[in-house]
Amino acid sequence: MDTSGISQTFRAAAARLAASGEDPRSQQLAENLASVHERVDRAMAAADRRDRPTLIVVTKHFPAPDVQRLHRLGVRDVGENRDQEAAGKAAEVQEALRWHFIGQLQSNKARSVLRYADHLHSVDRPSLLKALIKALPSPPEKPLTCLIQVDLRDPMPADGRGGAAPEDIERLAESIEAAAGLRLGGLMAVAPLGEPAGPAFERLQQLSAQLRHSFPHADMISAGMSGDLEEAVAHGATHLRVGRDVLGERPLQR
Ligand SMILES: *Cc1c(COP(=O)(O)O)cnc(C)c1O
Repeated sequence: MDTSGISQTFRAAAARLAASGEDPRSQQLAENLASVHERVDRAMAAADRRDRPTLIVVTKHFPAPDVQRLHRLGVRDVGENRDQEAAGKAAEVQEALRWHFIGQLQSNKARSVLRYADHLHSVDRPSLLKALIKALPSPPEKPLTCLIQVDLRDPMPADGRGGAAPEDIERLAESIEAAAGLRLGGLMAVAPLGEPAGPAFERLQQLSAQLRHSFPHADMISAGMSGDLEEAVAHGATHLRVGRDVLGERPLQR
């Protein structure tokens, strides 16, 4: 396997920070990033995978200075799940980062999210798409990459919380593709509670293959969190969303 060297780079950064004694929090973040990337290395080796998934560091509930520390360590992709918090942080953090919005989004927040987000992982219903399209600036600025969040629960309860039903993916994909300021990225999912993540992520991988029949470029699979990133790597995730195993327990848990 090609060990990318990413985990060693973070270990070395942690050692340098430890020697300087200047910023224990950055040292901790570097060590955690090294450990998460070592897990990714091992999962890639086990799955005989060469292409490394992108690690999105989920910074929800952590303050702007942590985002800036992550940037200094080389992180370029961060995830947030609440618009109010994300908008404030994105305004405060001037460093060049890709902001991924990963939480359920109310339609009345579409305009705000368009200001800072590069990727929206949680497109789950036509009404949200309609709001996004209406809020798009004209002339269009950088396109927003949209992922369709899929509800992997089986049977799927009708609580409208876990994402779109698999049979609705195609129609949502067509609407995204038809909108000038939006770009179809692929699919996103959270492993259902009380069920092993592996088979759920396998279903997601199959749905992604189906989607790519019609939209070959829509190859993003956003799956895997701190607790199940190995299963996601094994089932083709291109983007992992990891919070607590990098930043620690969330301080402002609601
Ligand atoms: C919080 C969150 C994550 C990260 O979860 P951790 O268990 O902290 O790694 C990933 N995806 C979504 C949608 C989240 O809300």
